[in-house]
Amino acid sequence: MLAPLAAVLLFLAAIVSAFGYLRLEEMEREQEAVKRDVEYAQQRVRLRLLERQEQLMRIARDISNKEVDEEEFMGRAESMVIQYPELQALSWIDERRRVKASYAAPSVAVNQQHIPGEVLRPGETESMYGLARDLLQPVYSQPGAETDSAGLLQLHVPLTDQGRFGGVILGEYSIDSLLRYGVPSEVSAKYAVALLDGKGRLLAGSTVPVRSPIASWLPWTAPQANEYEVPVSPVGNGLVIRAQAYRTSLGVIGSGLFWLVGTLSAMTAWMLIGNWRHTRRRLQAQRALVAETNFRRAMENSMLTGMRALDMQGRITYVNAAFCQMTGWSEAELVGRTPPFPYWPEEDRELLADRLEDELQGRTRPGGFQVRVKRKDGSRFDARLYMSPLVDAKGRQTGWMTSMTDITEPNRIREQLQASHERFTTVLEALDASVSVAPLGSEELLFANKLYRQWFGTNTAGHLQMVAQAGVPDQPRTDESLDEVDSFVGLPTGQLEAVQAGNAEIFVHELGKWLEVRSRYLNWVDGRLAQMVITTDITARRLAEEQAAAQAERAQTASRLITMGEMASSVAHELNQPLTAINNYCNGMVSRIKGKQIQEQDLLAALDKTARQAQRAGQIIQRIRTFVKRSEPNRQLADVTQMVTEAVELAEIELRRRNVRLSHYVAARLPQLMVDPILIEQVLVNLLKNAAESIELAQRPTARRSVELRVVPKSVEGQPVVEFSVRDSGQGLAPEVMARLYEAFFSTKAEGMGIGLSLCRSIVESHQGRMLAENIYNGTEVAGCLFSFWIPVSGATNNIAGKDAGVTA
Ligand code: ADP
Repeated sequence: MLAPLAAVLLFLAAIVSAFGYLRLEEMEREQEAVKRDVEYAQQRVRLRLLERQEQLMRIARDISNKEVDEEEFMGRAESMVIQYPELQALSWIDERRRVKASYAAPSVAVNQQHIPGEVLRPGETESMYGLARDLLQPVYSQPGAETDSAGLLQLHVPLTDQGRFGGVILGEYSIDSLLRYGVPSEVSAKYAVALLDGKGRLLAGSTVPVRSPIASWLPWTAPQANEYEVPVSPVGNGLVIRAQAYRTSLGVIGSGLFWLVGTLSAMTAWMLIGNWRHTRRRLQAQRALVAETNFRRAMENSMLTGMRALDMQGRITYVNAAFCQMTGWSEAELVGRTPPFPYWPEEDRELLADRLEDELQGRTRPGGFQVRVKRKDGSRFDARLYMSPLVDAKGRQTGWMTSMTDITEPNRIREQLQASHERFTTVLEALDASVSVAPLGSEELLFANKLYRQWFGTNTAGHLQMVAQAGVPDQPRTDESLDEVDSFVGLPTGQLEAVQAGNAEIFVHELGKWLEVRSRYLNWVDGRLAQMVITTDITARRLAEEQAAAQAERAQTASRLITMGEMASSVAHELNQPLTAINNYCNGMVSRIKGKQIQEQDLLAALDKTARQAQRAGQIIQRIRTFVKRSEPNRQLADVTQMVTEAVELAEIELRRRNVRLSHYVAARLPQLMVDPILIEQVLVNLLKNAAESIELAQRPTARRSVELRVVPKSVEGQPVVEFSVRDSGQGLAPEVMARLYEAFFSTKAEGMGIGLSLCRSIVESHQGRMLAENIYNGTEVAGCLFSFWIPVSGATNNIAGKDAGVTA
C-alpha cells in the first residue's frame, strides 16, 4: 500500500540529489571558468602594464644616455599617451624632485597635472619617488580608494646617470582605463569585473549585488562563492582583479524543472493517496458485499421455501437449496433443464406444461396455484407455486422467479381442523340446549347452533332478549381462565355457573317455554369480548316442580286437618267448657226470670258473662279455622312472638287435656322473619303435640309433665338465625326411631299417621332452615327429648320486633 508512495518519494529524492549533484558540478565548472577567465584577464592586464613599463624603461635608458631631451620626451610622451589610453600622464622628474617635463592627456584635471619646474609635494608620490630612488627599480604605487590619487596607478622608473640616480620617469595610469582596455571584452561581457585595492575596496569596475541569505543556500541558485580574484602581478598585492559570475538562466531552468518534477511527484503522491483511499473504500464495499452475499446465501439456504428461476424460454437458470431438498434433485441436475421438468409427475405433465405456457405468456395468478410435485424417489407432495417476473437493472424482464412451498402439512392440518370443526358442530348442533354467541354491544350473531336457530331464527333478538331477561351478569373477569377452552370441543372450561356467569330461569312467551339461561363472557376468536348464552328447555321440570309444590301444599293442609282431627276430642273438650258455662248461665237466668227473682243489673252481668264465654268458643273455632284453612303459600315479614302465641294457644288445648304443663320463653328484640306464619305455627303445634303425646306415653307423674318452648336468636356459620326448641320430659327417641324419624308414614303410635315430622322438616328446609332432634339424658337414663329448628334472618328483615323483655308463660 505504501510501496508506491515510497517509490514516488524515492524518485523525488533521486531527482533532487541528481539535480543537486549536477548543480554542484556545474557550479564547480563555473568556478573553474571564472578562475580561468580571471587568470586570463590578469595576464592581459599584466602584459599591458609590463609593455608600458618596458617602453618607459626604454625612454628612461634613452634619457640616461642623453639621447632624449625635454622636447623629445614630450613628443614621445604625447605619442604614447595617445596610443595607450590607459596611460594618462607621463612626467620627467629630476634627481632634485623637480618636474622637468610632463605630458598629460587632455582629460586629466588641471590639479592633477604636474607642472614643469614644480617640486614634488611630500606625499604618496613623493614617498614612491623615494622608494624608486633607493631601490633603483621601477616601483608601482599601491593605489588606495581614499587617497588623493584615487583611480590612479603610478609607475616610477628610475633614471641612472653613470650609476647614479638621476630622477624618475613617472607614468600615471587611469585604473578605469586600465580595466576597460586591459581586460578582454569576452571576459568583461561574462562577468562583473572589478579592480580592487589591497584592502578589497573597489577602485574600478562593477560588482554583482549581494544576494539574500536565503537565496544563497537554495540549491538551484549559484552560491556567493562563484567569483575569483587575483593580484595583478607587476603591481603586487596593491591591485587585485576580481570577476563575479552573473546569475545564469540555468538556475531558472533548473528550478523550473525542479518544480515540474516536484509538482508531478506531489500529484502522483496525491493520486496514490486518492487511489489508496479509493481502494480502501472499495475493499470495505467489497467486504460489505461479501457479508451481504453470505447473509443472503445463508438466508436462502435456511429458507424453507424453494426458489427457482426460469429464463424467458422456460429454462431453469437457478434453484436454491430448499428447492433441491424438496424435490430431491441436485442443482446440477436441474439447472439448464427445459420443460418437461423431472419433478413433474407423468400424469400431470400436459396440465403443467399448459400452466407453464400460461405463466410464460404473463398470465400469472396472484394467489399462486397448487400443483403436485414428484420427488426423485418417486413420492409426491402438494406444493403451492407463486411466479413473479425477474427484472434486470435496466427494467427489462429477463425471466421468472418461482417460489414453491410444501403444503402437504398445511393441507393435513386443514383437513384435521375441518374434521375437528365438523365434530364440534355436530356436537353443538345435536345439543338439546341452544348456544349463541354475540359480541357485546353489537347486533351481530357470532355463533348459533341448530336449536337456537329453530327457536329464534338467525338474528340476535333472542340472544339479547334472554340476556336482558336473565339479567346482566357481573362484569367479566380479565384473567386467563376466560381463554381456557376445552381442547376437545372448544367450549370454555370454566364453570358456566361460576360467579361471572349469569344463571336464570325465564319464561319466554313466544315459545311458551320455561328456559334456563346461563351466560358467560369469553374472548372470541378475533379477540372481541363476547357473551355466550346457553339455554336449556326446563318447561317439563318447571311443571313437575309446580305440581310438587301444589302437592306439598295440599299435604300441609291435609296434615293440619289431620292434626286437628287428632286433636278433635281435645277441641271438643275445650269447647265443652264455654258451652257448658253458657248453658249454665242461660239456665240460671231462665229460672231466675221465671221466678222474677232477677234484677236487671244481675241479668246484664250474667248476659255479659254468657257473651264472653260464647266469644271464647268462637275464638277457638276461629283459630282452628285459620289454622286449617287452605291458603296460598304466603311469605311475609312475620313477628315471631305472635306466631309463638298463636301456636301455643292451639297446642295448649291438647296439652291441657293431657295434663301437660307448657312453659315458653321468647327472647326479647327478635328480628322479624320472612316466613309463612301458618306453616311455622304448624311446625310448632306438631312438635308440641308430639311432646305431649310422648309424656303421656311415658306416663310421667304430674310433677314431670312439662314441655318447654324456647325461642332465641343464634348464629349459624356466621349467619343470624332464630332458633325454636321444644324440650319434653317424655320417653325419648329409640335409636331405630331416630333413624327413620323423618320418614313419611313412619309412626310408633297405634293411630299415628307418621307424616307430621316429615312435613315439619320440609317446611323448615323450604325456609332455608334446619331441623334436628336429640335425646336428653339424666345420667344414663333418657329424660326426654329436644326437637329444635332454626330459620335464617334474611338481611332485609333484620329489624327488631318483640317486646323489651322475654315473655314467659
Ligand atoms: P305421628 O305423631 O303421627 O306418629 P310424627 O311424624 O309426628 O307422626 O312422629 C313420628 C314418630 O316419631 C312418632 O310415632 C314417635 O315415635 C316419634 N316421636 C315424635 N316426637 C316424639 C317425641 N317428642 N318423643 C318421642 N318420640 C317422638
